Amino acid sequence: MRTLLDLVLPAECGGCGVQGTQWCERCRRSLADAPIAVTPRVDPGVPVWALGPYSGPRRRAVIAAKERGRRDLAVPLGAALAGAIGVLRQWGELGPEGSSRLCLVPAPTRARAARARGGDPVLRAVRAAASGLEADCRVWPVLSMRRGVRDSVGLSAAQRQDNIGGRIVLERSWSRMPDPGRRRNEVVLVDDVVTTGATSAESVRVLRSAGARVAAVIVVAAA
Ligand SMILES: [Zn+2]
Repeated sequence: MRTLLDLVLPAECGGCGVQGTQWCERCRRSLADAPIAVTPRVDPGVPVWALGPYSGPRRRAVIAAKERGRRDLAVPLGAALAGAIGVLRQWGELGPEGSSRLCLVPAPTRARAARARGGDPVLRAVRAAASGLEADCRVWPVLSMRRGVRDSVGLSAAQRQDNIGGRIVLERSWSRMPDPGRRRNEVVLVDDVVTTGATSAESVRVLRSAGARVAAVIVVAAA
């Protein structure tokens, strides 16, 4: 089976480039470190947690998943996000398992960019994370970005806020989510990278204005 997989999957660690494995034990351990609290310039109004800084295996894996078609990396990234959620529960930052229904909302991505990449790597990682959590954990892909949002590379915090303000919207699928505004649902926004916090802040604002109880933002890496 391993030989067969080697034929179709890249045999290079997506976190460090070591040959012979898609994700090595060292990178797995590196991403399993306790999450770190982040204070982005634009405050989303809820705690923001990252698996670590935007460097090393986190940076490499995010780029490979986003730009090099490494869909397989959703599995280790999802596992690391699920692990971070477990730690945050132990710390009391999230309600203990069973106290509420955990609802993971992938941060929106520019639709055209996601299509060009052959899908949304954040959504994929969130689905992988949910599969490693309790059975009633839900994935809510309910946020999308309107047209007109520019690529944010090189923009300042104020420019990013201006770029994103009013352009994140709830999709119609929101109304199909089971009691989306119920207190029993604990919503966590998930993204790959937080930079200025503008996207997270606008996403949290939109979710809250729809009645969602947003508990935290969790990202793979903090730039
Ligand atoms: Zn590695």
